[in-house]
Amino acid sequence: MNAADLPFFRYHPDPVATGAVREGSEECARCHRRTGWMYTATFYTAQDVSGDFCPWCIADGSAAEQFDGDFSDTYGLDGVGMETVREVTRRTPGFRSWQDPHWLVHCDDAAAFLGEAGPTELARYPDALDRLRADLREDGLRDPDELERFLACLGEDAIALLFRCIRCGTHLAYVDAS
Ligand SMILES: [Zn+2]
Ligand SMILES: [Zn+2]
Repeated sequence: MNAADLPFFRYHPDPVATGAVREGSEECARCHRRTGWMYTATFYTAQDVSGDFCPWCIADGSAAEQFDGDFSDTYGLDGVGMETVREVTRRTPGFRSWQDPHWLVHCDDAAAFLGEAGPTELARYPDALDRLRADLREDGLRDPDELERFLACLGEDAIALLFRCIRCGTHLAYVDAS
């Protein structure tokens, strides 16, 4: 089965590119099928889960339901509807990061996670860079030279996590540091 046949996740449109889903011949811990694709990122549950899930058991909510778990935390999902929160946390692949991963919000909806971005990728998204600069200034990085140096070094001790608003298309990012 090729990647085009994977279920579509509007809040995580290319989980193979982000590394959240990879090719793998293991059995899914929920449906026990070997679909050829396995989920690799976070799942928070108090129960024992032996192995990983196939993307289909994420998409239909059955993995989250059976193990009463979440793929992502609700942190960051302020001002979006309960249905959206459930879709992101229980029916969308999460992602790994150094700090607790969280979802960005734009136009009152969760944004789509596009993956990690270094300086080269970020240069293509001035809208995301503007927001990053504003956030970093707010976090105390006031010296403009220092701020630009920090952005130029993304990919080393810190990385930007890139999102795109599914409503207006604006790109957003936040910094994840080790
Ligand atoms: Zn499955
Ligand atoms: Zn928007």
